[in-house]
Amino acid sequence: MIPFLELRPSDHALRHGLDEAYNRVMSSGWYILGPETTSFEEEFADYCGTKHCIGVANGLDALELILRAYEIGAGDEVIVPSNTYIASWLAVSAVGAIPIPVEPHIETAEISPGLILPALTPRTKAVMAVHLYGQTAAMTQIADLCRDRSIPLIEDAAQAHGATWLGRKAGSLGDAAAFSFYPTKNLGCFGDGGAVTTNNSAIADKIRLLRNYGSRKKYFNEIKGSNSRLDELQAALLRVKLRHLDQWNKRRAELAARYTTGLRNIHGLTLPAVAAGAMPCWHLFTVWTTQRDALQEHLRGAGVETLIHYPVPPHLSDAYKDEHWPAGSFPIAEAIARETLSLPIGPFMSDTDVDFVINAIRRNVPQTI
Ligand SMILES: *Cc1c(COP(=O)(O)O)cnc(C)c1O
Repeated sequence: MIPFLELRPSDHALRHGLDEAYNRVMSSGWYILGPETTSFEEEFADYCGTKHCIGVANGLDALELILRAYEIGAGDEVIVPSNTYIASWLAVSAVGAIPIPVEPHIETAEISPGLILPALTPRTKAVMAVHLYGQTAAMTQIADLCRDRSIPLIEDAAQAHGATWLGRKAGSLGDAAAFSFYPTKNLGCFGDGGAVTTNNSAIADKIRLLRNYGSRKKYFNEIKGSNSRLDELQAALLRVKLRHLDQWNKRRAELAARYTTGLRNIHGLTLPAVAAGAMPCWHLFTVWTTQRDALQEHLRGAGVETLIHYPVPPHLSDAYKDEHWPAGSFPIAEAIARETLSLPIGPFMSDTDVDFVINAIRRNVPQTI
């Protein structure tokens, strides 16, 4: 059985570091907003190449707090990709703003810069670029467009820890970025966690307030904040894992290259396209085929676990049924939802296992694709 992703830290060195971090927090007796969170924030800001990092409770909160920091709310419009994890949209809805979907580029599945321009209105208050599957969106064009209009560019970097665009890291490509440390992400903690990165000191300061009841000084509340903090234990454990992130991403890239070579020239099977300028962190390795369900079933039979990211585009989900976007509104997002299949990938996967998956697909070609 080849699992989609192995999460147990099999590496002995990592295990030792995690035990040490756990013991450090336990013996400190300090669990919320302390030295581990501060150190992780400095280390992650450093990693992303930004001035600030603010640890928060999860990726959705990170997005929502960014929108609140920019005072985006009722009646405002925010551009989002039509194909994304629903969290990108939910953050916009949570502040009372309206998600305005824009279709992706058909080959990369990343939001199409050319389609953002016609979607802008006087009510557009931000563009949210999602680095889906670990590949950055076409950030140069999108950043130019946002600069011309003086609207903030927000990155949903929840799948993009370590991905780069023209050599610069995700998290540093817009005005503010949201990360998630959900366990299955490239940098994941042992529970929920998230962060905001930004070079904007005023926004950083506001998010620090918002995540902690609007208070800088205990029991003195400057604004109506919420409780969304990354805790000391998760921060300490993340600090250990952060030191391995580049090496894990490198391994993911090797596996992606192996899949790409092994699955080349199969009629009816489209492999992920990487745009010039992008260096993905390969959060997911997604293939497309009109025979997706049959291929998934065949792989299940062969002992290969695959997943679908995502089976329902946000506009067709029940959560957005009142917004009246009928089927056919966003044909590219809908085609992706029908045809995409994510193959197993992860830093601890062996070459042998990738070859097994490749051979299982190749054996099945005449029947399904
Ligand atoms: C995981 C994810 C989120 C949300 O992160 P959580 O920590 O689960 O709240 C947001 N956007 C994208 C694209 C994601 O993949």
